[in-house]
Amino acid sequence: MYYQLALVQLLLLSAIDAAANTPRLLIISLDGFRHDYLNKYELPTLNQFRNQGIRANNGMRPTFTTMTFPNHISIATGMYQEDHGVIHNTFYDRRLNKTIGMSSRDEGQWSDPSIEPIWITATKQNVKSAVLFWPACHNEFNGVRPLIYTSIYSDAVPYREKIDSAIRYFRELPIQLVMLYHFEPDKQGHAYGPDSPEVRDTLFRLDNDTKYLLDRVKEELNDDLNIIILSDHGMTNVTKVVRPIFEKYLDRSAIESTILSGALFNVMPRNGRTEEVLRNLSNIPNVTVYKRDEMPERFHYSKPKHRLGELTALPDIEGQILSEATTNSSYPNKGNHGWDNTLPSMQAIFMARGPSFGKSVQISSLNNVDIYHIVCQILKLNPNPNATAGSLRNLTQIFMPIETSTSTLSSSSSAPSTSTLSSSSSAPSTSSTTTPATSRSTPMTVRTTTRTTTLASGADRFVFHRIFLCVICFVALFFTF
Ligand SMILES: [Zn+2]
Repeated sequence: MYYQLALVQLLLLSAIDAAANTPRLLIISLDGFRHDYLNKYELPTLNQFRNQGIRANNGMRPTFTTMTFPNHISIATGMYQEDHGVIHNTFYDRRLNKTIGMSSRDEGQWSDPSIEPIWITATKQNVKSAVLFWPACHNEFNGVRPLIYTSIYSDAVPYREKIDSAIRYFRELPIQLVMLYHFEPDKQGHAYGPDSPEVRDTLFRLDNDTKYLLDRVKEELNDDLNIIILSDHGMTNVTKVVRPIFEKYLDRSAIESTILSGALFNVMPRNGRTEEVLRNLSNIPNVTVYKRDEMPERFHYSKPKHRLGELTALPDIEGQILSEATTNSSYPNKGNHGWDNTLPSMQAIFMARGPSFGKSVQISSLNNVDIYHIVCQILKLNPNPNATAGSLRNLTQIFMPIETSTSTLSSSSSAPSTSTLSSSSSAPSTSSTTTPATSRSTPMTVRTTTRTTTLASGADRFVFHRIFLCVICFVALFFTF
């Protein structure tokens, strides 16, 4: 009899443990949130959040170039820009003969199977995700898409509405990963500069919205949610604008029309004119010019020949813009980013809190290509073997001790030995429907086949689970006696 009672007890405990061990993770990206904004302003919620969880004292290092689209893909894939191929916010692909930007539809730009955003890694391993406004989330990767994704980018949707969507998905769907992108405070940083009252006001509003998020997580999700708040890059004042073509440093007819400009100036010289263009660009004061294959290794910015031009000019001074303008038109931004990814002004934020993370842990900094592996560790996913730019080598202390003691933290072996499902077998059928996900009718795609599996809310599930266990115990005890 005692043996049977012990067995019942064991069943009960293991079932409760299984329910509690389904980790969930919300990742929020606040575009252009410069790391030292957190020190400059007394943002009560964000500063309390990072003090209670994981605090990166020197922020998070972006990949080069410190732009939005490339860094969101680096965060999502754990790859450098030269490996995932997104080398600017908008760029030209000479193989596809297409210009690609954040809103580009599927045009074959994601045909390389070695490139895999974390939501695709999750989907392939039957972990369901929702990805809201994250660059490229509307694209298909080797036939796979997340359960929920925004099909059209819009910056008309307030942060709170995105938070509402995320909470609802966690409550109503068997979702384990939500990734949410928001365009602020980048927008105000560009328009008014990083030191402006407009940026300050935006930061306090975002801080207050974060309090709203944490209150809802506490009330509706039993505080059982891992949350990472991060950004893609920093922001600095534009101090000087150089227009190499207008200012006659460069003969426009010597280069192809596909120019990357801003904090770097990348051009493809026409046949036989490379040395001439190199000489001419080198005449610009305070600029260093590199041939593509001579770019400093630390930038990891030379491989994609079909997307990068042969010459890159980099300003030696932070804040200097190289514009492709052919007239003396005024430059629209007071603030910008894109410069060297080691500059303090370009550092991004990283903070994390929740049941999988340690409490009040301080680290110096991390690389944004490490995020992919942090997500794999928390959600128990096998990482893409091509995601080699980042790792968990210097991050073992950020996880709860139970996590680190039961898992090996190297990137190659960090996930349990669950087999990776092939994309064809794991992805539900492609039938989908576009539904209004917010009151502003944000285009949101939910794959209909899986939507039919909608569960009750988290709280309801919890209660149901407990009742079910009680019934089992009662039946077992009945037969015991
Ligand atoms: Zn920006």
